[in-house]
Amino acid sequence: MTSGLTPSARLSAAIGDTSARALERAFGMRTVDDLLRHYPRRYLEVGALTPLGDLVEGMHVTVMARVKSAQNFRFGPGGRRTRSEVVVTDDTGELSLTFFNQAWRGTMQPGQVGLFAGVVGSFRNRLQLTQPDYDAVGDRLARGVVPIYPATAKVSSWAIERAVGTCLDVVVDLPETLPESVRTEHGFVPVAEAFEAVHRPHDVAAAYRAQARFRFEEAFVIQTVLAQRRRAAAEASATARPPRTGGLLDRFDARLPFALTAGQLEVAAQIEADLAAPHPMHRLLQGEVGSGKTVVALRAMLQVVDAGGQAVLLAPTEVLAAQHHRSISSMLGDLAASGLLGGAEGATRVRLLTGSMGAKARQASLLDAVSGEAGIVVGTHALLSDGVDFADLGLVVVDEQHRFGVEQRAALVDRAATRPHVLVMTATPIPRTVAMTVFGDLETSVLRELPAGRQPIQTTVVPVADRPAWLDRVWQRVREEVGRGRQGYVVVSRIGESEATTTTRSLTDLFAELEVGPLLGLRLGFLHGRLPADEKDAVMRAFAAGDVDVLVATTVIEVGVDVPNATVMVVMDADRFGMSQLHQLRGRVGRGQEPGLCLLVTTTDAASSAAERLVAVASTTDGFELSRLDVELRSEGDVLGTRQSGFRSSLRLLSVVRHESVITEARTAAEAVVAADPSLASSPALAAAVEALEASERAEYLERT
Ligand code: ADP
Ligand code: MG
Repeated sequence: MTSGLTPSARLSAAIGDTSARALERAFGMRTVDDLLRHYPRRYLEVGALTPLGDLVEGMHVTVMARVKSAQNFRFGPGGRRTRSEVVVTDDTGELSLTFFNQAWRGTMQPGQVGLFAGVVGSFRNRLQLTQPDYDAVGDRLARGVVPIYPATAKVSSWAIERAVGTCLDVVVDLPETLPESVRTEHGFVPVAEAFEAVHRPHDVAAAYRAQARFRFEEAFVIQTVLAQRRRAAAEASATARPPRTGGLLDRFDARLPFALTAGQLEVAAQIEADLAAPHPMHRLLQGEVGSGKTVVALRAMLQVVDAGGQAVLLAPTEVLAAQHHRSISSMLGDLAASGLLGGAEGATRVRLLTGSMGAKARQASLLDAVSGEAGIVVGTHALLSDGVDFADLGLVVVDEQHRFGVEQRAALVDRAATRPHVLVMTATPIPRTVAMTVFGDLETSVLRELPAGRQPIQTTVVPVADRPAWLDRVWQRVREEVGRGRQGYVVVSRIGESEATTTTRSLTDLFAELEVGPLLGLRLGFLHGRLPADEKDAVMRAFAAGDVDVLVATTVIEVGVDVPNATVMVVMDADRFGMSQLHQLRGRVGRGQEPGLCLLVTTTDAASSAAERLVAVASTTDGFELSRLDVELRSEGDVLGTRQSGFRSSLRLLSVVRHESVITEARTAAEAVVAADPSLASSPALAAAVEALEASERAEYLERT
């Protein structure tokens, strides 16, 4: 037997090539550590049988049950083949097991208790496992507890259990990631003991307590990373950009056609103070759709321009960048017409920079950026590419943060000679715990209130499966709005190729249908992400100018598109969208003087959970409530998003949705540790875990770019 393997040793060194390969294939495990952190899903007390009533068809399950009867049947030529039927019970329900050509199964003794694993199927209305795996309770009898691991048809729970046992016997130098003080304060056992309790349990409660330790550890390492980042940001210096009396900001405010809401004023004051400080601002501004984040951001940009710096506004799509550029230019009017006829005294310049711009326009923008002529540069991630330089970058505003990774933000921020201030805006409300994890290095401000006089949006679910006439009524409503001089959106979930098997229609198909059918005679336009940039821009301009009545589009219009004359939105196959996404989408209507109408068309039946989600969207316009519901209904991966952060792959036990108190406690503990020992010199194992997490985040970032 091998001895003295460290956790980073290859798994094959501990358990041999064959088993290691099977585990790698099934779960992607490579090292001893990977296996040790494959935690049991639950624990069975020996003697306590698995409730069979809970089994769901299609699930891979591992159950402990008692044999009730066993019988062999012969079949095939000469009766050479056997089928064994074993019925097991938990004393309330039964499960039938079918084994082929393992005649000895048919001789299992009634009363015998064993572990059975397989995929639940059904036959003649009875749940069954076909060709299940079987394991005797054996030496677990003495220990009294059986760990049940996430398993597959190829790698059973007990195969994992044995492999883990082998690793526990040989592993040395398990790193104690939790500093002693944290461990004692929370009453967690040392790491080696915790692994024993988790994988070779004698006591179910102790096993779960040990899992809680590892769950806390996951949160703690992340929070330590974030605490260090906050500290670094607080210590970093930035150019202070205090407001200037009589500058562009004052002149902009004086001509603003509306009064800022109380919420806008409050956030604006926070930002004004942040910018005036000699440390970089790192602020997340969450605000409901239509709560007026852009004005707040623009005011911040003007403050920086007034102080002699430049500001960048980073948008997630070209459509949105172009729109921001247009609306900022028009809001500023002559204040943004530096060097042009009619430009105001002391005016600045607003430039657009996107990946697919023509060379000439791009060159002009680049020149204005590097010379400082452009006070404000609006763009997409093209702004992050090499060769884009600024004279004095003072502020980076990131719109709709959830589409940018932390590292992308860093790429821009690190470029500048001194760190710019950073304002991140998102309209997708983020539950507190997610914000604390994903954006934990940012201070948070929230805009809950909508500007007064904002028109309500009425949302209606239109189930068209058994009522095709209702769809006609939908198109009629669109025609009515257009007849009143209004405009509308039709949102589809896919661009090309309708699916033959479903009723989902693609953008191209639906567009063709509407054009000659229900919307015949209206001026239609279409927009999707794969159109060339100039076409996208042309369509958006035409729509904004009122030259297109109805825009048939994919979710490229989800964020930020602002055409106040649009009053109706039809979302086709609405069940294909997430709740927060639908909330975002409908925020595109009702932005002007008229109430908005959003029609969620679906073919799913009214009793389905998809339909329930639609009803929830229709029933509230509170984005925070919807995002909470949405997050509950989605998986962890969706919430964090692959583009979100490398943190995700480090999470085994921690749910950023369910474990709010763990995250809060870990944050407090991490703050204290980092404050006392910023470089983590006295916790080398923690320092290593932090470094590994930072490295995996960088790696994921590189993979994406
Ligand atoms: P979002 O937060 O969704 O980005 P916007 O900044 O696009 O919202 O604002 C939506 C609309 O509301 C814009 O047309 C903007 O000019 C307008 N708006 C912003 N603040 C106010 C306010 N205080 N009063 C009235 N209208 C406002
Ligand atoms: Mg916006």
